Amino acid sequence: MEEQEKPENSFGLIAGWLCLDFTNTVSREDHTLNHERLHSYADLVAWSQQAQILNPAAAQELLWEAWQRPEATTRVVAQAIQLREVIYEIFSDIAAGRKALPASLAQLNGALAQALVHSRVVPQEEGFAWEWEEDTTALVRVLWPVAKSAADLLIDGELDRVGECANDACGWLFIDTSRNHSRRWCDMKDCGNRAKAQRHYTRKKKKDGMEARA
Ligand SMILES: [Zn+2]
Repeated sequence: MEEQEKPENSFGLIAGWLCLDFTNTVSREDHTLNHERLHSYADLVAWSQQAQILNPAAAQELLWEAWQRPEATTRVVAQAIQLREVIYEIFSDIAAGRKALPASLAQLNGALAQALVHSRVVPQEEGFAWEWEEDTTALVRVLWPVAKSAADLLIDGELDRVGECANDACGWLFIDTSRNHSRRWCDMKDCGNRAKAQRHYTRKKKKDGMEARA
């Protein structure tokens, strides 16, 4: 059987934490955004579905709502990218051992305040859990769990485990779960291999140069 393309699984969710996966919807080279993946509200919905913060029915409803409200949709995509970059700044600083900037935290707190209005505590079979308002077609709802996830990571996460890919042209963030805190790459298959190939190429060039001179 021919393999079907699965656009809903096209985002690399390798970070191990929701808000960091969200920052990885773009690559960064010298603070310039490269390979943007969030071009439209539909992209945002596709990411949210893959990240399992939106079920298919809710996704359909939001796409329908977005289609009817193009101006609001453009605003929410801009808001998403702004939130993403604030989260990136905070955790990129933390990964580098720097303090998060107060201005970035203030922006995150703004997004968090908007999000938490729509959250509630609900009983579970055992204990209680957070839940988001379900019966809403607010386009911005896809950002609520992302903002909360950033707050959760700051408060409850192991911040010394937050890392940034060592490839200068990547900038993806992740939680390093390796035993000796040795994870350097977002993905060994991707940036790790590229770095290995680069080292091999540099070594080979040096060796060839030496042989040519001999
Ligand atoms: Zn990388």
